[in-house]
Amino acid sequence: MDIQQQIKALSEELRKHNYNYYVLDNPTISDYEFDIKLKQLQELEAKHPEFAEADSPTKRVGGEVTKNFETVVHEHRMYSLDNSYSKEDLLDWETRIKKMVDGEVQYTCELKYDGASISLTYENGRLLKAVTRGDGTQGDNVTANIKTIKSVPLKLKGNYPAKFDIRGEIVLPFEGFNKMNEERIEIGEEPYRNPRNTASGSLKLQDSAEVAKRPLECLLYSIILYSNNSPFGRNAEGKEGLNTQFESLELARQMGFKVPDAAKLANSIDEVLEFIDYWDTHRHDLPYETDGVVIKVNNLQQQEELGYTAKAPRWAMAYKFKAEQVSTRLNEITYQVGRTGAITPVANLEPVELAGTTVKRASLHNADQIEKLDIRVGDEVFVEKGGEIIPKIIAVDFTKRPADSQPTQYITHCPDCDTELVRTEGDAKHYCPNYNGCNVQVIGRIQHFISRKAMDIEGLGGETVALLVNEGLITNYSDLYELTKEQVMPLERMAEKSAENLINGIEASKQIPFERVLFALGIRFVGETVAKKLAKHYKNIDALSQATIIDLVTVDEIGNRIAESVVDFFASEENRMIVDRLKSFGVQLALSEDVLANQTNKLQGQTFVVSGVFETVSRTELKKLIEDNGGKVSSSISSKTSYLVAGDKMGPSKRTKAETLNVPIISEQDFLNMLI
Ligand code: AMP
Ligand code: ZN
Repeated sequence: MDIQQQIKALSEELRKHNYNYYVLDNPTISDYEFDIKLKQLQELEAKHPEFAEADSPTKRVGGEVTKNFETVVHEHRMYSLDNSYSKEDLLDWETRIKKMVDGEVQYTCELKYDGASISLTYENGRLLKAVTRGDGTQGDNVTANIKTIKSVPLKLKGNYPAKFDIRGEIVLPFEGFNKMNEERIEIGEEPYRNPRNTASGSLKLQDSAEVAKRPLECLLYSIILYSNNSPFGRNAEGKEGLNTQFESLELARQMGFKVPDAAKLANSIDEVLEFIDYWDTHRHDLPYETDGVVIKVNNLQQQEELGYTAKAPRWAMAYKFKAEQVSTRLNEITYQVGRTGAITPVANLEPVELAGTTVKRASLHNADQIEKLDIRVGDEVFVEKGGEIIPKIIAVDFTKRPADSQPTQYITHCPDCDTELVRTEGDAKHYCPNYNGCNVQVIGRIQHFISRKAMDIEGLGGETVALLVNEGLITNYSDLYELTKEQVMPLERMAEKSAENLINGIEASKQIPFERVLFALGIRFVGETVAKKLAKHYKNIDALSQATIIDLVTVDEIGNRIAESVVDFFASEENRMIVDRLKSFGVQLALSEDVLANQTNKLQGQTFVVSGVFETVSRTELKKLIEDNGGKVSSSISSKTSYLVAGDKMGPSKRTKAETLNVPIISEQDFLNMLI
């Protein structure tokens, strides 16, 4: 097989696995095997960019940055839906329909997915553009971001219409949403409030690589052909063209789109109601949020006869589920201290059944929220289960407020260590400033230090950390490195073997590379990605600890908030002592020699665009060389580009653009000379 065929075959194979995994939820190979194949393809494409397919599976990782989203007029308007709330509403709707169309009316019942609506346009089997609903007439072009969502096919399967729009909803399933929040809490950020807003916010992120990291899904529900009388082969039933909504869902599935299989045909409003009843209770088992059901006249001919009002189709109706709400008594407000010292007030409720679970607690977020709700102990409150796992308190039932009720006084001192709390300007949360003396913070920080993505200390778990601190054996993470087997043996549930494992695990962590140690230190707002950036830029902890805010913000992607937090961290004498101790024990606090050997600052402040095929290095290697030497790689030419590194077979448009913007075009050799 020649290279081009190899690239094609690998792309096809990866596309199939993506489909199995993201559309069918039925992977047939392990993630590991998938990653290996993806790497192979990436390498082949880097060596032979001329053979890389425009919609290669490697493009899913994003990287395109959009500063301003282009406004696009919808070729076919995106309507809203009329709402109904009862059987009567639906019967009224049926009466109106029957006046306007002849014959039997069948309905397609679908779930109403709660996310952000999107319109995808496909031409000749390829994704042409993706546009948000906007005001219905025009929306934003968010194609670069949508391309990173793996359940959106870039290339269609089987038979497809020459050109069509397909509409759907971008949702963020609960599981992924909760994981994103865990990571945010981990670095001391406020968690996102609900999946819907997070999904729609994701569409407008400027960096598509950020979107790629979010576990978004696209669920499709409607096809609009550009030309009604252009038969395009055979539909689900072997007939030409599309006749019904139900068929078009099946066609969408066959083309490779994700279409939930809950959809059902109903012959009467009674059957519609059965569907509604079923999903009103079973929707809680779905992996994503739904807020109702959408009922559509199935026959597309009848749909056309019914047409649209100014705002919505006459042939469709949404039925909104009642938000599951109960009222219960607020018994107590308690306050939790997080690893970063952030205080979260928690409502302790009289246990009550809600959406199939017993609810005892709800988050109150912060002092402002308490004030806004005017919530008090003893109040009867309304609790609602939205997207989050933790339910929220919607309002207080003021009619039931006891006469002797007292306004809630937010705590002023830390519930753990009794230190006076602080709240900085612009921060919603109160913090306990007793960084090194507050037990919860101390334990939390060490637990973070040993966690999998940080020092990954085998043989040591969160509970043991708490034991070690409470027994007075350690007070910070540097103390771990002085622990002896004899010290830990007497601890609860410790045996000789497990004590040995623990000590060995700690010893082994001295090999963990600098960037992960930096993440492990638990500096507020310094997550994994930021830690990598800082490690690469400063190369060792001494340089980083001396950096000023002005200096820090010049690093790519480091903003004021992170910079301040880093400076604060190293301003503390105690932290500096702990870091020195880590260093004395041999923990990696600098990039290793072989990483460093290939890194300089020679290209600092310069931005490169790389295009074409190269002789002595691959394109990927070239990009790495730029970054390792302090330069930046960008995918498109702008007035900010310092150089265009041109290889063989570079696209003519890049050349023209570079010439008009006066961007110097250099050869591979010119570039390599810059590094000498
Ligand atoms: P609304 O925003 O309440 O006017 O409801 C209309 C929106 O519901 C549409 O813009 C879609 O984004 C969304 N929606 C979710 N699921 C469906 C579905 N199965 N069929 C049609 N629209 C849906
Ligand atoms: Zn405290």
